[in-house]
Amino acid sequence: MIKNTVPFLDLVAPHRELEQDLTSVFRAALQTASFIGGPAVERFEHDFAEFCEAKYCIGVGNGTDALRFALIAAGIRPGESVLTVPNTFIATTEAISQAGALPEFVDVDEQTSNMDVTKLHEYLEIQCYRDSATGRSISRRTGRPISAIVPVHLYGQTADMDPILDIANAYKLTVIEDACQAHGAEYFSAAGQCWKKAGSIGKVAAFSFYPGKNLGACGEAGAVTTNDEALAQTIRMIRDHGQVRKYYHAIEGYNGRLDAIQAGILGAKLPYLRDWNEKRRQAAARYRELLEPISDVIALPQALSWSRDVFHLYVVRSEDRDGLRSHLAESGIDTGIHYPIPLHLQDAYQHLGYRPGDFPVAERLASQILSLPMFPTLRPEQQVLVATQVIEFSSRSGSVLATAAVN
Ligand SMILES: *Cc1c(COP(=O)(O)O)cnc(C)c1O
Repeated sequence: MIKNTVPFLDLVAPHRELEQDLTSVFRAALQTASFIGGPAVERFEHDFAEFCEAKYCIGVGNGTDALRFALIAAGIRPGESVLTVPNTFIATTEAISQAGALPEFVDVDEQTSNMDVTKLHEYLEIQCYRDSATGRSISRRTGRPISAIVPVHLYGQTADMDPILDIANAYKLTVIEDACQAHGAEYFSAAGQCWKKAGSIGKVAAFSFYPGKNLGACGEAGAVTTNDEALAQTIRMIRDHGQVRKYYHAIEGYNGRLDAIQAGILGAKLPYLRDWNEKRRQAAARYRELLEPISDVIALPQALSWSRDVFHLYVVRSEDRDGLRSHLAESGIDTGIHYPIPLHLQDAYQHLGYRPGDFPVAERLASQILSLPMFPTLRPEQQVLVATQVIEFSSRSGSVLATAAVN
C-alpha cells in the first residue's frame, strides 16, 4: 500500500508553475549584468510599497537586515532597551541586540499569541519609571531607557496595533512592526476607521522574503516599509555602506542590499500573492470546519473581527502536543513547532537573567502549539487526511485543553 503523505510546505509546485517567468528574470540579469540594485530592485520596491499601502519600500538582504536597519534608522541606540515578545523567531531579538540595544520581553495574549497590550501597559507603568530630566521611561530591570516596541505579527495575524500605538505615543516610543510573517495581513484600526496593511501601521516595518514566507525569494531577501521619507533615505544609506553617492560615505553602514535576481523573482511572484493568501484563508477555513467538532480538545486559531489573517502558519494547540505530533508523523503528516523554546529561556539569552515562569503564557503556548501543513496548493483531500488523524488521536487521548473553550 502506498502511504499517503502530506508535506508541511510545498515550495516546488509554485516554482514549477512560474518556471518560465522566473528563468527569464535570470536571463535578463545575465544579459544586462545588472546584479545588485538597478531597475529590477526599484520596480519591486515600488510594487511592494503599493501592495503594503506604504509610501516607501527599501529592498535589503533579508528580514533580519530589514529589522536591524529599521531599528537603527528609527534612532535606537546602544544603551537603550526595546520591548518585544518572547514567542518569536530569534531574528527579532538579534536585530535589537545588533542595533546595540537590549531586548526586554512582554508576555503575549493566550488567544492570539501576539503581544498582550494590557501587559505592555503594565510593564511601562510598573516595571519602568519616568526619568524626570528626560521624560523617558527607564526600565527598573535594566536601568536602561526604553526606546521602542517591536510587535510581531505572528503566524500572519497582526498584533492589536491601535492600543500599541496609543501606548507608544503616551510613552514616547517608536513602533517597529516585525511583519516578516504577515505579507498582506490587515488590521482594522478603530481609531482610523479603516483597514490598514501590515507594514503601513507603525513608524517602520520589516519583511522577510525567505523562501518559505508568504512571498518568498529563491534565496535570501527582505524589505523595509515606511511612510517616513527621511527614514527611508537613511535606510537606503545604511544598506549600502552609508553611501549618499558612490564612495561618499555619510555614515558607516552595512552591506545589506537586495540583489536584482531576487528582486526580479519577487516582482514576478507579487501579482500572485493576493491569490495565494486567499488560498491560505480557504485552507484555514477548511481546517476550522473539519476540526470544529473537537475544538474542546484542540484549540484552533482565533478569528478576530479586526484582523484579516494571511495564515503564514496554521497553529493549533493540544495538551499532548508531542503525542499528537508523533501520531501525525507516523501517518506521514509533517508538522512544525513555532517555536519550541521561548526566547527568554534560550541559552543565547541567559545573560538577560530571565527564568522559567517569567512569561507563563508564552511558556504554556510553547508546550502546546503545533503548526499543521499550510501552503497555497494544499489540497482539500490532504486536509481531510490531516484532520482525520488529528481527530483519531484526540478521541483516543483527548485531555481537554483548559483554555480551548473560548473557540
Ligand atoms: C523569518 C522571520 C524573520 C527573519 O527573516 P530572515 O529573512 O530569515 O532574516 C524575522 N522575524 C520573524 C518573525 C520571522 O518569521
